[in-house]
Amino acid sequence: MLHLAVLGSGSSGNSALVCHEDTRILVDAGLSARQLGERLNALGVAPESLDAILLTHEHSDHTRGLEVFCRKRQIPVYATLHTAAILRDGVTTPLPWTQFEAGNSFRVGGVAIHSFPVPHDAVDPVGFRFEGGHSTLGFLSDVGHVTKLILERLRDVDTLFAEANYDEGLLMNDKKRPWATKQRISNRHGHLSNDQTAELVATIAGPRLHRVVLGHLSNDCNQPALAIAAIAQRLRREGLASVEVECAPRHAATTLQPVARTTEVARVTSGEEIPADSLRVCEPSRAATALPAAPAPEWRQSEWAF
Ligand SMILES: [Zn+2]
Ligand SMILES: [Zn+2]
Repeated sequence: MLHLAVLGSGSSGNSALVCHEDTRILVDAGLSARQLGERLNALGVAPESLDAILLTHEHSDHTRGLEVFCRKRQIPVYATLHTAAILRDGVTTPLPWTQFEAGNSFRVGGVAIHSFPVPHDAVDPVGFRFEGGHSTLGFLSDVGHVTKLILERLRDVDTLFAEANYDEGLLMNDKKRPWATKQRISNRHGHLSNDQTAELVATIAGPRLHRVVLGHLSNDCNQPALAIAAIAQRLRREGLASVEVECAPRHAATTLQPVARTTEVARVTSGEEIPADSLRVCEPSRAATALPAAPAPEWRQSEWAF
């Protein structure tokens, strides 16, 4: 079964670990290389044993530790063509890139990964749906509004990791930020509010939904209790009160938890599995050379939000 641990989540840095049997995948590397190493070791995962690093987008709170972390380790780095292009320009160490197009599916070890484009103020941001051992995990960070495609890709997952960036009331009453910044955060290429995430969760929730892990909470304009209450209340209205809702801490890792109830996994029939031949298998070296390097777009690389 898939397991998820969030190593840290917030404007100060984002990274998560997805495991299935002996496959280990890091999603984003926005903590320092030292923090990444320490938090992986604390979970009992040697950093050298990672099979892949997947990037959602290029913002520094998702990529800050990437270069130093990879300097001594040849871990394939999976990113979309445009995300890889903009990051390649900013690093001095050549990284073993495996490029894919937003919307591609591929496999890393025993895990099937489906990428999908998301609207956010970055060059080519994506979310992921992970499937392994009859369990599914949706992963959505940094998204301005929820599209039909996002709902389709996240429907009926066992666990959803999703951002709940701000509480609308706290953001609008915030004295530190000018109006323009508030508009950028809350616009269609910014971040999701607690209420938007609650609506998303209610829409994709099926009987299999076991846990919702909330991340990327604003330090000033959100509180874990508010975010959890917004999502949990919405789930209760849908008759899904048994779904666990938790917030990933900003500066510490969660434990490595199974994404599905064991009873649900036992009930799943093999017919629900995506056939292996429908997936594009990305061999790191082949895929990296098969796709042309995209020209680096002109775009700011830093996260403007909080
Ligand atoms: Zn971010
Ligand atoms: Zn971002």
